[in-house]
Amino acid sequence: MIITGKTLAEQPIRIYTEAGIISQVEPIATTDTTSLPYIAPGLIDLQVNGFAGVDFNTLPLTKSGITHATEQMLSFGVTGYYPTIITNSDDNIYQLFSDFQQFKRNDAQLAQTLLGFHLEGPFISPNDGPRGAHNRDYVQAPNVSLVQKWYDASEGQLSILTLSPEWEDGLQETIEYCVAMGIKVSIGHSAATPDQIQQATQLGATMSTHLGNGCDLQIHRHHNYIWQQLAEDQLWTAIIADGFHLPPAVIKVILKAKQDQVILTSDTTAFGGMKPGRYQTHIGGDVILTEQGKLHLASNPELLAGSAKSVLDCINYLINSDLLSANSAWNKASYSPSSFMGLKNRGSLEVGQRADIVMLNKNDNGLSVLQTILAGEAVYTA
Ligand SMILES: [Zn+2]
Repeated sequence: MIITGKTLAEQPIRIYTEAGIISQVEPIATTDTTSLPYIAPGLIDLQVNGFAGVDFNTLPLTKSGITHATEQMLSFGVTGYYPTIITNSDDNIYQLFSDFQQFKRNDAQLAQTLLGFHLEGPFISPNDGPRGAHNRDYVQAPNVSLVQKWYDASEGQLSILTLSPEWEDGLQETIEYCVAMGIKVSIGHSAATPDQIQQATQLGATMSTHLGNGCDLQIHRHHNYIWQQLAEDQLWTAIIADGFHLPPAVIKVILKAKQDQVILTSDTTAFGGMKPGRYQTHIGGDVILTEQGKLHLASNPELLAGSAKSVLDCINYLINSDLLSANSAWNKASYSPSSFMGLKNRGSLEVGQRADIVMLNKNDNGLSVLQTILAGEAVYTA
C-alpha cells in the first residue's frame, strides 16, 4: 500500500506498507499541500467501557456485540483499545475476562485491536463522590489472590489496574504483584490522603485515572489527592477531555504540569457514537444524551452518567478550545498511551511500526476520519 498525504505537523510524506508494517516513509516535494489528506497513527484508548450500544460490563457478552463496537471505534480512528471492566462481583469480572479472551481467540481483527484489559475497581473508594457510579456492594480492599485469579482469566492480558491507595489492607502486596507482572497500577476513584498517594507511587503506581473525576465535590485547598498526583513526577495523567468532565482551565493546568505525561482517554460507554435521545440503562435508570453529546441522568442534568464521546472527539475538543495543536492533541491519544504502555510497534508513523494509519480531513469542526487502515488494510472508509 502507498499512502500520500501530510502529517498533522503539515509535512507532506509518502508511506509504503508491506505485510502490515510501515516499510518506508519519505518526504515529498510539493508546493500545494491543501488537497492532501492528513495522515496520522491510529488512536489508542486506554479506557473504553463500551461503544455503539454495546456495554462491556453487562453479561452475557456476545462476539457480534464486541465486533460491532470495535468496528464503530475503527470508524473514529481507534486502532487499539483496552476494554475496561469496572467494579462488579468477583465471578462476573472473571467471566467478562474469559468471554473477551474467547472472542479474540479466533478473530484476527479483535486480536489486533483489543490490546489488553483495564480493570477499574473493585479496590476503589467506598465513599460517595470518589466512588462515582461504581456499585458499592462490590467495592472491597485490595486482594492479591483475586488479582491473580483475574490475571489468569485474562490470559495475562490484564494490563492496567485502577485502585485507590486509601486501603491499607492488601495494598502493598497488590501493587507489588502488579509491578512484578507488568500490570500498570493507576490511582483513581480515590479519597486517599497525600501520604497514601505518595506511598502508592513509591510502591510502583504510575498513572492517574481520569484525574479530576471520580472525586469529592469539595476537598482541602492544599492537602488533597489532586495536587499530590500532579506533583508526583512518576505519575502519568489520564484525562477525559470531552468538554463536560473537566473545565478548560483545569485541562490547561494539567497539560502544563504533566506535559508529555498526559494521556487522553475517552472513558466512553455504550452510548458512545449513539444518536441523541432518552435511554434506559440497566443500573442508572433513565439517561439523556444531548445534541452536544453530554450524557446525564434524566432526573438531573448536572449529574453526568459517563461519557458518550470517542477519543477523537476529545482531540477535537482540545483543538477547538485552543488548548493544543492538532498534532499535539493527536499525540496524546496515540504516541503517549503507546509509550506509557510500552507498546513497541504502535503510536507513530516510523518505519517498522504497524501500519495502523488514519487518513483525516480537517475543517472548522476539527478532524474527521476519511479512512482507517489496520495493519496495511483499509477497514473503514467514510
Ligand atoms: Zn471511572
